[in-house]
Order: sequence, then structure tokens, then C-alpha cells
Amino acid sequence: MEAFDLLVVGGGAAGMAAAAAAAESGASVALAEREPGLGGILRQCVHRGFGRAVFGEEVSGPEFASRLIARVLASGARVLTGTAVTKLERDRTAMLSGPAGYFRIGFSRCILAAGCYERTAASLPVAGTRPAGVFTAGTAQAMINLGHYCIGSRIVILGSGDVGQIMARQFVRMGKQVVCLVEQRSAPGGLARNRRDCLEACRIPVRLRATVDEILGAGRVSGVMVRELDTGRRTPVECDTLVTAVGLIPDRALCRPLAEDGRLPDWLRLGGNCDFVHDMVDNVVKEAAALGAEAAKGNERSNGENGSRADAF
Ligand SMILES: Cc1cc2nc3c(=O)[nH]c(=O)nc-3n(C[C@H](O)[C@H](O)[C@H](O)COP(=O)(O)OP(=O)(O)OC[C@H]3O[C@@H](n4cnc5c(N)ncnc54)[C@H](O)[C@@H]3O)c2cc1C
Repeated sequence: MEAFDLLVVGGGAAGMAAAAAAAESGASVALAEREPGLGGILRQCVHRGFGRAVFGEEVSGPEFASRLIARVLASGARVLTGTAVTKLERDRTAMLSGPAGYFRIGFSRCILAAGCYERTAASLPVAGTRPAGVFTAGTAQAMINLGHYCIGSRIVILGSGDVGQIMARQFVRMGKQVVCLVEQRSAPGGLARNRRDCLEACRIPVRLRATVDEILGAGRVSGVMVRELDTGRRTPVECDTLVTAVGLIPDRALCRPLAEDGRLPDWLRLGGNCDFVHDMVDNVVKEAAALGAEAAKGNERSNGENGSRADAF
């Protein structure tokens, strides 16, 4: 069985930064990513707005990812793409499944950087059938930017955080109609710059203190029922697509069985959105690089030979 000083699970921004910092500090590192390529969520975020703190300029998500990929490939970390970690064991071994089959590796430390998953429409108290045309924002973004699909033309977006706002702007730029963005709170969420650049610049109609409580249509979405929270009044809104952007949840499925009294083993750390949902990728990278350097420091062989490289990000 092959063994590494550090196993990093997830090849998004956090995993790549952690793996590169640890490998540059002299640790032997395996970085496992279940998708065929590295980059994580960055691959589908084609807008600019990434990297001001890390690279001193704003670049797109794929560009940001490609710079990190170059870094991690040059670091000497073993990169295993198309390879999912299916289990972490207490004896510091992990089961992996990928092109090389189903195999086990050993490690001294592990950083879980598995990102987060989206709350879906199924988790909301929404009546009606489930016709085609209902997407989470992340799925819609991946289908459009990675798959080049057209997912609809008249769109209602539920949820006004950064993800909902960025998708609203993208739909407008694609010539689609964003019928409205529906938000239960009394003000839109997200970063101020997104409210300015997306909602205001694209003149997105926003319905505050409201929610979608029914999906209309058979076969394909024909509309949604928007309910005002203060009055209870319900109005049908015609659309062919509902995009939900109602929250991200850190994906900690792999470490849950290892927790004792709510505490993780001291050899396991959480990085990036797997730790908590971050607004800015620059913070993800800085924190994860520090985690990677700390993991390498905890390893006697690497410590002292090369020093910490977290500061390089
Ligand atoms: C729509 C959207 C817009 C954004 N816009 C901006 C912006 O303008 N500016 C900005 O700074 N930030 C932005 N962000 C935030 C930033 O992109 C993220 O916080 C950051 O990229 C998260 O990185 P991560 O590595 O934690 O997670 P992810 O990128 O989600 O990476 C996690 C990786 O782990 C892999 N994985 C999961 N489980 C396993 C397993 N068991 N085995 C192997 N691999 C696994 C996944 O396939 C994935 O590749 C945006 C985010 C979104 C969603």
C-alpha cells in the first residue's frame, strides 16, 4: 500500500492550495479529485471577480483555476483525477475509486476539501408537480457553462445570495428574460459589489419578503406561485424555468463517521467550503495554503528541510 504524508480530498481551490503548499514544504502529498479535471466550482464560474487578493487582478474562475493547477502540478504533489475518496478510516487509510480501480492508500494527515452541495427545491415546502425546468443554480450554471445547454428563456430565480445574483446577470447577458428574483428577506443578500453589478446594472426585478410556494405546469414549468410573506397574497408568475439558489451546505459526509463527541481526529482538518461557505475564493486559498503548510510542518521529515510555504499565496 502506498503511503503519503498528506492526503487532500478534493481538487477545488482549497484542495489545490493545500496540496501545493504542503508539497512545496517537502511533504509527500496525494490530491484526489473525483471529477476528470481539477478546479472544482471555479471551472463553471466564467464571470470575472476572482483573485484580487491572491493575484492582484480580477480573473475568471477558469483562469484562477488554471493558475492554481499549474502551481499544484509543479509542486510535486501526486494528482489523482477522476478518483473519488469513498472512505476515510481511523487507521489513517483511505479507500479510493478511479481509473486505477478500487484501492487503499495510507496517510499521516488528511485535509478534507470536498466543497459544499446545494439545498434543492425538494427540501423546500413547495407545492405542485415537479415538471422539467426546475434547476438549482449550480446545476444550471454547470449545464450552461460546461455543457453549453439552453435551459430556458423566461426565468424566475428563488434566492438572492451571490449565486442567485450572478446567475441572474448571466441570464440577462445571454438574452434571456429574468422575470423576477424572489427573496424572503427584506433586502437582497450577497456581496455589495454583486448587488451593484448584477441586480442594479442588469435591472433585475426583485420581489422582497416573498417566496415561491407552488410550481405550475405539467411536463414543463409554465409558472410559479409567488406568495407575499406579510400579506399571504399569492400571484401566479409566468415562466418556463425556476432556478433555486437557496443555500449551500458543507459536504462533510466523509468525516462524519470519524467524529467523536462532535470532534474530529487531530490528523483531520477541513478546508475551504467544506469548513464553511466562503464568499471569496482568495480567502479559501489563503486559509487552505496555511492548512497545507501546517500539515507539512507536523511531519518530521519535511519540517526543517524546506520551511513553510503558506506565505507564497
Ligand atoms: C456561483 C458562484 C460564484 C462565485 N463567485 C465568486 C467570485 O466572483 N469571487 C470569488 O472570490 N469567489 C466566488 N465564489 C466562491 C468561490 O468560488 C468558492 O468559495 C471556492 O471556489 C470554493 O472552493 P473549494 O475548494 O472549497 O470547493 P469546490 O470548488 O466545490 O471544490 C471541492 C472539490 O472536491 C471534490 N470532491 C468532493 N468530494 C470528493 C471525494 N469524495 N473525492 C474526491 N473529490 C471530491 C469536488 O468534485 C470538487 O472539485 C463563487 C462561488 C459560486 C458557487
